Amino acid sequence: MSTDGGLGLVILGRQGSGKGTQALRLAERYGVVHISTGDMLRAAVAEGSPLGLRARTIMDAGDLVPDDIMCEIVADRLERDDVVTHGFLLDGFPRTLAQAEALVEVAGDAIDLAINLDVPVDEVTRRMVARGRADDTPDAIARRLSLYEEQTEPLLAWFDDRGRLAVVDGIGSETDVFGRLCAAIESLHAAADEA
Ligand code: ADP
Repeated sequence: MSTDGGLGLVILGRQGSGKGTQALRLAERYGVVHISTGDMLRAAVAEGSPLGLRARTIMDAGDLVPDDIMCEIVADRLERDDVVTHGFLLDGFPRTLAQAEALVEVAGDAIDLAINLDVPVDEVTRRMVARGRADDTPDAIARRLSLYEEQTEPLLAWFDDRGRLAVVDGIGSETDVFGRLCAAIESLHAAADEA
């Protein structure tokens, strides 16, 4: 696929880094479609669809939903007209190298930038304990963070090798962090203008 005009963005970051909140603001600012795989899965759980029934126990344990399921969900979503017209901001995907490779298959040229919203482990742990979401039990938090180090962190080097990574410090007020994220995206525009 390719997008006509819109940006293709990916936001990466540990659970509790604030990426969901920032992703909503960024999607609004840049007019792209926010695609949150966590939200899509939670909607499936709420509906009680076959996917939701399967995803629920996996999510409650803090495990990852299998790659084949996630890749299919995201590939379908990326084909829809709103995304093709306006571009996208992926939040929660890719989370594994297999997902990153699948993403490049469907959206290779359309990905302009992956941003790592960087917040250290001790700080995200504090934030997650404080927010008290249903799937934020201490065991699930620890499990998700260790899976992040194992499965998702390697994606940073992967995007960097492809010249597509920006790292943004996620410590500070929501507004300050938003400003840094916008600066990272706008430096991309500046680079494109020079080219
Ligand atoms: P968090 O960032 O706190 O993990 P998300 O809303 O992004 O929250 O995801 C919630 C849960 O949904 C994850 O813990 C995982 O079980 C599942 N999930 C979301 N995205 C993916 C993905 N790309 N691959 C596998 N599982 C996923």
